[in-house]
Amino acid sequence: MVFTVESHFVCNDGLRVDYRPTPNKGGIIVPTLLVMHYTAGFTAASAIATLTSPASQASAHLVIDRHGGVTQLAPLNNKTWHAGKSSWRGRSMCNGFSIGIELVNCGPLLERADGEIVAEVAPRKVIGGEDAVMAHHPNGERTKYWQVYPEAQIEAAEGVARAICEAYRIKEIAGHYDIAPTRKRDPGPAFPMASFVSRVLGRADDEDEPVAVPPARFASPELRRGDSGEYVAALQYLLNLNKAVISALSQDGDFGFKTELALIAFQKRAGLVADGVAGINTWAALRARKDQ
Ligand SMILES: [Zn+2]
Repeated sequence: MVFTVESHFVCNDGLRVDYRPTPNKGGIIVPTLLVMHYTAGFTAASAIATLTSPASQASAHLVIDRHGGVTQLAPLNNKTWHAGKSSWRGRSMCNGFSIGIELVNCGPLLERADGEIVAEVAPRKVIGGEDAVMAHHPNGERTKYWQVYPEAQIEAAEGVARAICEAYRIKEIAGHYDIAPTRKRDPGPAFPMASFVSRVLGRADDEDEPVAVPPARFASPELRRGDSGEYVAALQYLLNLNKAVISALSQDGDFGFKTELALIAFQKRAGLVADGVAGINTWAALRARKDQ
């Protein structure tokens, strides 16, 4: 299960996920925010039916069911109607700059007089104890049961969110509650927002963070494709530090194809001879930029 984004469609292992186009959409957007929701319902089918019905005047880009199944309702660069009246960092009407993901989850639960835990939304279906978690919503309502998000669903949501954030260089993820706190409470306190955000956005940051320490600070051996060893690892470290390519090189000490491409990209940017060979000038330029 590897999610990617191709031409504004989410793909799973290279194939587009199920597409159920919604008429409830507007024009082209440049998304800078990802917004997480719950459906306040029980099944993906009912959510998709609502979000593709003209009468509902509501939609989202994606629906993720409780087993991790993903359905897309509109291209990711189209405006969908998931946020309503909302604002984020001083910008209002978030539909105009955000992608919305709906997770199938019925939200808050009630304890019936007979002790059964049921959904707050109609029909008040019984939710098994293993599907309920006691949690406190930051909006101040009393601590109560909420329906849990199954691991398979969170895993799929993370994969999809990561692919989207990489494709559109999105740096922020919010809950519907965060952008419309007086009207909304989804995705609710059962959604692990903090770990979700760090797992979706953190990885890219980690990749930007070089981990090795370059050996022999003043040595500048000539290196080319096929070479290996600690100086190659140092070269990779410096290329990462200089952000030669967007996704960081693995600092494995093997001068392969990717290292060569990164080196050529760096040499071009630095105005050096772009021959893919690390000579004394390249080492000097890599270290100069590092020290800035
Ligand atoms: Zn919502």
